[in-house]
Amino acid sequence: MSNQECIFCKIANGEIPSSTVYENSDFKVILDIAPAAKGHCLIIPREHFKDIYEIDADTAGKLFSLATEVARALKQELQCDGLNIIQNNGAAAGQTVNHVHLHLIPRFEGDDVTVTWNPKESNGQELSELAKALRKRI
Ligand code: AMP
Ligand code: ZN
Repeated sequence: MSNQECIFCKIANGEIPSSTVYENSDFKVILDIAPAAKGHCLIIPREHFKDIYEIDADTAGKLFSLATEVARALKQELQCDGLNIIQNNGAAAGQTVNHVHLHLIPRFEGDDVTVTWNPKESNGQELSELAKALRKRI
């Protein structure tokens, strides 16, 4: 089902043009219009899922399976030194388009891309309590 207000639904059904890298019945892979680096790709499911909480496990599995193929194509074509795969959920995490998608960002030694965080100290007991609580939910 598509969402009439959604820019990625419009891209997926061809209403808005995009630089299409690959498409099949489930997904469209496009080049990001404001790339973090050369070759920055977006993998977009054709169906409108807002985020990771909405997408079903089968489609999510296919999404990551396709990511392995796009990653290999990027590495072969661009000879990138590395590759980040990023998927943002919620404004707090930087999601700006509310249609789930995967970013594939080729990385080059010395580039100016920042995909990082400040590591905090951890406490063994807190880690094990939290792991136990989460385990119960999976
Ligand atoms: P996110 O912040 O994870 O929601 O990522 C949304 C991404 O979509 C950003 O990297 C945008 O540059 C990209 N984007 C937005 N509009 C378009 C468009 N029309 N074509 C290609 N990429 C787009
Ligand atoms: Zn959509």
